[in-house]
Amino acid sequence: MANKIVLGNWKMHFTGPESEQFLADLAAHVTPGGVEVVLAPSNFALYALSKQKQWQFKLCAQNFYPKDFGAYTGETAIKQLVGVADYALVGHSERRHIFGETNADTTEKLAAALSVKITPVLCIGETALERQNGETEDVLRDQLLAGLSGATARELKNILIAYEPVWAISTTDNVAVCTPEDCAQAVKFIRTQVREIYQQEIRVLYGGSVNARNVVGYLTEGQTEGVLVGGASLQLEGFSAIIEAVKAVR
Ligand code: PEP
Repeated sequence: MANKIVLGNWKMHFTGPESEQFLADLAAHVTPGGVEVVLAPSNFALYALSKQKQWQFKLCAQNFYPKDFGAYTGETAIKQLVGVADYALVGHSERRHIFGETNADTTEKLAAALSVKITPVLCIGETALERQNGETEDVLRDQLLAGLSGATARELKNILIAYEPVWAISTTDNVAVCTPEDCAQAVKFIRTQVREIYQQEIRVLYGGSVNARNVVGYLTEGQTEGVLVGGASLQLEGFSAIIEAVKAVR
């Protein structure tokens, strides 16, 4: 059975030295032991972290531009990530909702990542309003199929889907909680779509306010192959506890 995945998305946090220190502290604190631990620092810190050879973790880009090298001021080409990142997020909800990334962008990005053998993590998920309006499945289908149209059926094994209900991301109250049952329902829908269209299986992660107390539910009842962790990946103790909890899941 493939290793479970714990992917920490640091978003726009940590300076360069803080990123390096966190990585060193994490390496001293935990051993992945059968869990694939992946960190997604800011793009500017990726290269330095990729040089810290002693560590056993993998790296993920939070974003990139799908074109070849060229006159695109301020962007990071996917080819600049080769040898640096193993994974790249595509279509994270903050990219979609703050920066206007479209489904068409995700098609292009997913194809670009695959073309250089970086594993894309296609993030999909409905907003609170879409859920209230009963549009969850429509949204998931549209985002899933748009992203995957950048791949061939044979490439599906090299892709991860992250189900991230937007309404459950970075919640600090106990109101908007995506339960393991909610997660399982969405994950089942995603897998069924992929099976029907491509006759293939696909690996699915869950993301949305994951912490050490709730993580096991998303892996077991939630029927996922791992988790995408935002806020809780910024605290050494909390992130280590998540990794330890996932290690204990068999
Ligand atoms: C995320 O950034 O993808 C995420 C899931 O964040 P959080 O864990 O803070 O909800």
